[in-house]
Amino acid sequence: MSSGEAKSIDFFIPILDFLGSLDGVDEAVLVSEEGFPVEFRKVDKKTAEVTAALAVDYTISTSSILKEALGKPPEGVVIDVDGKRIINIKKIQDLILVVRGDRSAVEAGLKPVELKLAGKQIRCANCGEDLTLATYKCPKCGKTIPFTADTCPHCSANLHVKRCPKCGALITSTGNLVVRRKSKTSSILASIEGGIAGVGFGAAALLFSGSPLVGGLVGSVTGALVGFLVYRAMPEEEVELSSH
Ligand SMILES: [Zn+2]
Ligand SMILES: [Zn+2]
Repeated sequence: MSSGEAKSIDFFIPILDFLGSLDGVDEAVLVSEEGFPVEFRKVDKKTAEVTAALAVDYTISTSSILKEALGKPPEGVVIDVDGKRIINIKKIQDLILVVRGDRSAVEAGLKPVELKLAGKQIRCANCGEDLTLATYKCPKCGKTIPFTADTCPHCSANLHVKRCPKCGALITSTGNLVVRRKSKTSSILASIEGGIAGVGFGAAALLFSGSPLVGGLVGSVTGALVGFLVYRAMPEEEVELSSH
């Protein structure tokens, strides 16, 4: 669906559900062409009606001023409530989407909505699930946030890599697969340490038994064992496989 096509109210239902499920979003209202709240989340109808009236007021009263300044009709208005909270009024063809709440939560919530409006999707590279409007519980603060958020809008935790809510695969916020593997330096270090241990134990075994066969055997077995243990203890690194 291109962004130029008229969007039905049905198109917005999952968007409203998504916005309404986010922590930090206090209100999400879809206003009709006539200025009525057709869909609203987290508030009652009365509040949604007041919001709808405000949104219409703002889009009409500011549009002539902004039109002159911008040279085109404005696509939206952001009202800063108190520096921390905002009301984002976005005109989408004949409809108006209003989202009120914490600035960071509203902004993080509107990013995937913009993708949807542009006809784009974020899909899990492993199972193909559309995760554009999926939510995710921040493992650090427990708040419900958009899956597509790279950092938590509430506690700033880095959440670039996480598990797909559908298949459990380790993926990035953009859906790319991530594999955990040992770095090259890990295996080199393990071989060196294994080698040193092997030579040491081998020499000791040779000294005690007087047999080069026993010495060689003990040396290679301990070398391999130490190498394996060292390798296993090495930290893994996360590598993003770009699939797009
Ligand atoms: Zn998946
Ligand atoms: Zn958090």
